Amino acid sequence: MSFQNNLFLTSSDSDKKAYVEMMEATVRAIAASMTDEQAYAGMPPYDLRAAVRTDELLPAEGCGFEAVLEEIKAKILPNLVRPASTNYMAHLHSAALVESVAAELIIATFNQSMDSWDQAPVATEIEVEVIRNLCRMYGYDENSDGVFTSGGSQSNLSGLLLARDWFCNEKLHYDIKKHGLPENFRKLRMYASEISHFSMEKSAHLMGMGYEAVVKVPVNSAMQMDVEALKKLIEKDIADGNLPFCIAATVGTTDFGSIDPLKELRELCDRYGMWLHADAAYGSGVVLSRKYACRVAGLALADSITVDFHKMFLLPISCSASLIKDKRNFDALTIHADYLNREEDEEDGYINLVNKSMQTTRRFDALKVWVSFKMRGADGWSDLITGCIDNAAYFYSRLAENPDVEVITAPEISSVVFRVLPKNGSTEDGDTMNKRVRRELLHHHGVVIGQTVCNGNVCLKFTLLNPLQSHAKLDELLDLILQLSFK
Ligand SMILES: *Cc1c(COP(=O)(O)O)cnc(C)c1O
Repeated sequence: MSFQNNLFLTSSDSDKKAYVEMMEATVRAIAASMTDEQAYAGMPPYDLRAAVRTDELLPAEGCGFEAVLEEIKAKILPNLVRPASTNYMAHLHSAALVESVAAELIIATFNQSMDSWDQAPVATEIEVEVIRNLCRMYGYDENSDGVFTSGGSQSNLSGLLLARDWFCNEKLHYDIKKHGLPENFRKLRMYASEISHFSMEKSAHLMGMGYEAVVKVPVNSAMQMDVEALKKLIEKDIADGNLPFCIAATVGTTDFGSIDPLKELRELCDRYGMWLHADAAYGSGVVLSRKYACRVAGLALADSITVDFHKMFLLPISCSASLIKDKRNFDALTIHADYLNREEDEEDGYINLVNKSMQTTRRFDALKVWVSFKMRGADGWSDLITGCIDNAAYFYSRLAENPDVEVITAPEISSVVFRVLPKNGSTEDGDTMNKRVRRELLHHHGVVIGQTVCNGNVCLKFTLLNPLQSHAKLDELLDLILQLSFK
């Protein structure tokens, strides 16, 4: 087949034909590349780097789409990791539901930009509707609002920025947006557990306060923020003249899926005049499980919530939202420009979403949520999420009964962290053995699992986001891991 070099999809018959042919050929190549169940074909980094090295990225004369597609088929498709494989469970990185891939095609083809209404009329109205429904789903009332973002890191930055500006406005009567940081900014303090996501520190840096503004709170044996320790840290800071402005709870820690006690944290925030941010990048998906939603019911207590749709919700990257209980706080991110978001627009009913956003040009990611929620409904979604959490409970029970394995904590969501214990008299220490097993799985068995450190020991991690995962497969993987450990 030879492809035309048409530029865009327009109303012309020639453009339509070229568009359909290019999409069809691409879709066929993608489907044909799925030849086995391996999560990764295994190529090590130096070989892969050499295989994709190119000095001809911009050849003098273009080689046409057919040749490019052939190169994609040969070099790229076979070496992609396959998050849809039941051999893939390394990170909070999911496969993309097929209907959301169809939605991506619409998003990319029409390339709406969500900053102003005139660049995205119906897309703006759909995002507004999706956000309104999401706020309701997490227990917020009509004073709430939200915006789609590029991911959990940006949603956290957005929530923490609003928290800090709210605190300075309300308690110090000082407007950071206009004047920059106050003179005593080194006294600002936010609290997050010692196993919170590193976007807490990154946000503190980006906000001009630095890592030292983030007080790390110890966790208990269930990997949840220790409320008593937190209370002492806050009281000490107040006694020292510091300014505690926010508790950042993690609802689903990256490694363990543990959930900080939101009710107790809310009480502390109320007592000391602080903002409660909930980083639910991982745990936000639990709300859809009829069986387990109660575990995240406390999200309604937070002043801001980070929701990630490209983790448990199985939607393509990027897809995330930042929800805010009192929408007036979005004022911190609003700035008017004559060329984009005129104040008179809003008076006439044109919503310019850039007023709530750190990004300007922004994707129509809300469509993926809209498509997928409508298509599967609450029943369909509940089954998907419940299945993953049940799988984690099952795998944990298998590990807990095995004397060759140490488990860290019972999963509240769908991550299980464990380490294989070296046999008496083994020449290999536990850290070396567990690291070796993970690398061997990656390069020789097409299995991609996670690795982390807990209590100073290297541990292995299964992050179970794939509803296709089965108990039988988990048993098989455990057998393989034990076999590689003791070979
Ligand atoms: C993944 C994760 C983030 C970051 O989200 P991105 O979408 O990767 O930017 C933040 N917090 C927690 C707890 C996470 O697991």
